[in-house]
Amino acid sequence: MSIIIQNGTIVTASDVYQADIRIDGEVITSIASKIVPAAEDKVIDANGQYVFPGGIDPHVHFGVPGYADDFVNGTRAAATGGITTVVNYVEPPTGGKSLLENFQLWKQMAKDSVIDYGLQPVINAEYSESVLKELPTLVEEGATSIKLFMSARGIGLLLSDVQIYKILKKARENGVLATVHCENGDVIDEIVKETIAKGNTAPIYHGYSRPTILEAEATHRVLAIAQAADAPIRIAHVSCAEAMNEIEQAQKRGVIAYGETTPHYLTKDISSLELPNFEGAKYICSPPLREKWHQEVLWRGIVSGILTTMGSDHAPVPFEGGKTLGRDSFAKIPNGGPGVEELFSIMYHFGVHEKRISLQKFVDVTSTATAKQLGLYPKKGNINVGSDADIVILDSKQSRTISKATHYQKCDYNAYEGTKVQGIITHVLARGEEIVKDRIFNGKPGRGQYIYRNKLNV
Ligand SMILES: [Zn+2]
Repeated sequence: MSIIIQNGTIVTASDVYQADIRIDGEVITSIASKIVPAAEDKVIDANGQYVFPGGIDPHVHFGVPGYADDFVNGTRAAATGGITTVVNYVEPPTGGKSLLENFQLWKQMAKDSVIDYGLQPVINAEYSESVLKELPTLVEEGATSIKLFMSARGIGLLLSDVQIYKILKKARENGVLATVHCENGDVIDEIVKETIAKGNTAPIYHGYSRPTILEAEATHRVLAIAQAADAPIRIAHVSCAEAMNEIEQAQKRGVIAYGETTPHYLTKDISSLELPNFEGAKYICSPPLREKWHQEVLWRGIVSGILTTMGSDHAPVPFEGGKTLGRDSFAKIPNGGPGVEELFSIMYHFGVHEKRISLQKFVDVTSTATAKQLGLYPKKGNINVGSDADIVILDSKQSRTISKATHYQKCDYNAYEGTKVQGIITHVLARGEEIVKDRIFNGKPGRGQYIYRNKLNV
C-alpha cells in the first residue's frame, strides 16, 4: 500500500506547483502531475490546500526539570502544530558526569518522543575545557551542533571570550556548528542589581534592564571571535534591529553567520510585560521582548536573508509555581514560555497570510534552511523523491483561534491566547505515518527516532 497525496499545491523553498505525491513506507517515492492510485492505496485529497515539508524547530527545551513539557508532551504538541522534527537542547551535566555520559542520559530521556529528534548540548563554563576533548565523540553520536552562552554567570553558563574562541576553533575542526546566546551578561547583572536597589521589581523592569545595545555588543563580539577562529556561527533568538545589523555587517565581511529569530520577537512587544495581575511574567524571556518597531525590521531581515531560521525557544515555565516565584522581584521569574505548537501557524499567518514573506521563504525558514544548518538535509527539510515523508497539509481558507483550552502543550497558559490565525493544519505525516488529522493527534509515544546529524559542510 502506498499513500497518495492528490491535487495539492506543493511548496518548497524554491517552488510552488501542483502535483501528486506517492509515499511508500517512510519516504517519498514519486512526485508527478498525476499519480493514479491502485485500489489498495490510501488517498489524501489535498485539493485547494498547501503541501509543505514538515516544520523543523531547532530551539526547544523539552525534559527540563520544572518545565511543563517532557519529550512526549512536547513532541506531541510540536506535531499537532506542524513540526515533524525538533532539535532539543541538552542541559549541562550535573554530578560530575562527562558530556558524553550526560548526552546518553538525555538520549534515553528522549526515546518516547513522537517525532524525530536531534540533541544539542549546552556547554557551560565548567565544561569549557573538557568539551575540547569530548567533541569528536559527541560528533560520532550525531551531535553536530552545540550551544554557548555569553550571559547567566550566576548559573554557570557564561563563557569568557577566550573559552568561546577555543571552543569555536575546535567546533570548526570537527564540523560542529555553535549557536550562541548573545547578551552581555555581566553588565546586565549589574543593571539588574541597580534596578532592584531602586525598588523597581515589577516584570517590566526585566525588559528595561536588558537594553538592545548589550545584545548587539555581545553579537558583535562573538561574530568577531568567530571570524578570528575562522568558524561558522549561529546567533540564537535575535530580538532587535541592532543585533541583526551586526549579523548583516559580519555577513558582508564574509563571516558564515546564521541568524535565528523566534515568533515572539516578530509578534509581541515589551508592552506585554506590563499586563495586569502579574500576567506580564508570562512574557519574560531573554533577550526580552522589545519595542514594537523592531518587529518589521526583523521581518525584513528574514526577507533579505540575514535571519535564516525560526526557532520557538519553547521553554514552558508554568505560570503557577513557576512564574509566580518572582512575584516580589522580576529577577526571580524563570525565563521562557511555551511556543513549539504555534511556530508554524504564527509564521504562516503573520508571514504568508499578512504578506510579509513568500510561501517559499516560509518553507525555507521553518524547514529547509534549518535542515541544512543542523545536518538534517536532505533526509529532512524538503519535498523530494528520497526524502522522509514529513509533510504538513494546510487549508488556508479556514481559520482558528489559539487558546490554552485547545493546545496540546502542558503549560497553563498560551503566549498567543486569543490570536486568530488563518490556516488550519489538516494532516501531518511523519516518515509516512499520518500522525495528525484535523488537529487530532494519533501517533504513538516512541515512534520518533533519534537522528544522527551530519557534520556542517561549509
Ligand atoms: Zn532557548
